[in-house]
Amino acid sequence: MKKYSMLFVFMLLIVVLSGCTMKAEAEKPKRVDKPTPVTSEKPEVEEMEIPETINSQEIDTSTWIDVDAPARIPILMYHSISSGNSLRVPREEFREHMKWLHDNGYYTLTPEEAYIVLTENKKPSEKTVFITFDDGYEDNYIDAYPILKEYGFKATIFMIGKYIDKKNHLTEAQMKEMNQNGISIESHTFNHLELPRLTESQQLDDLTRSKQLFDQLLEQETSIICYPVGRYNEVTKKYAEQSGYKMGVTTEPGAASSEQGMYTLHRIRITPGMSTQWFGQLVENGNH
Ligand SMILES: [Zn+2]
Repeated sequence: MKKYSMLFVFMLLIVVLSGCTMKAEAEKPKRVDKPTPVTSEKPEVEEMEIPETINSQEIDTSTWIDVDAPARIPILMYHSISSGNSLRVPREEFREHMKWLHDNGYYTLTPEEAYIVLTENKKPSEKTVFITFDDGYEDNYIDAYPILKEYGFKATIFMIGKYIDKKNHLTEAQMKEMNQNGISIESHTFNHLELPRLTESQQLDDLTRSKQLFDQLLEQETSIICYPVGRYNEVTKKYAEQSGYKMGVTTEPGAASSEQGMYTLHRIRITPGMSTQWFGQLVENGNH
């Protein structure tokens, strides 16, 4: 029962702090019972408590500006920061992109801030951008992270549960360090399988398992699910919500807005060889 009383205290705090704007969230169905996992070596994640500190409690939106509904934001999609194929953006190009954002006065959003922008139609700045990386490659830590730090930028990495501490991927220590320094770690599922190809119970199992894993590992309320290869179906959306995620991101191109549905948000794919001018245009267009 302790879990539920803590949950109640947390909800009460959210309602008080946000002036009841999170009421709909508080009424959302709670996490559903977890079925017997298909593969589970980590039963201890079942025991977790709701984290006591959740970033959204600390966001002061009193200075934010109201924008026309529905608010639009560019969610940039990077993968590896390296070279070799169309998913890999070389470090120097990535640096140019970040320099452009900095020189043009862009504000980089956290997941919690992006949620407020999309659901409450207000922004911390006229110019906002949400930087994301898929798959959790180690070069995100080695090459992207120092550049992001240099500019004081926030970003989000969608990590695959089973690749933690695996070759070419982020380690637990790297994730924790980045998480303390403005880089959010969110879920890219546990197994990185195309969700619509799984059975309903397998989908639910992976969505809940990965959420609980990142919740526990990073003492957070993991809020975004990034669908592997951008694939999802109606069951995916339903279970993403039931598992406790607040947003889902796809690979459908364009700026994100709540009109698309909070579990099917669009993103802007960043490819190697893009001119800085083109990059800038994609970001600018994504804000209006
Ligand atoms: Zn992926």
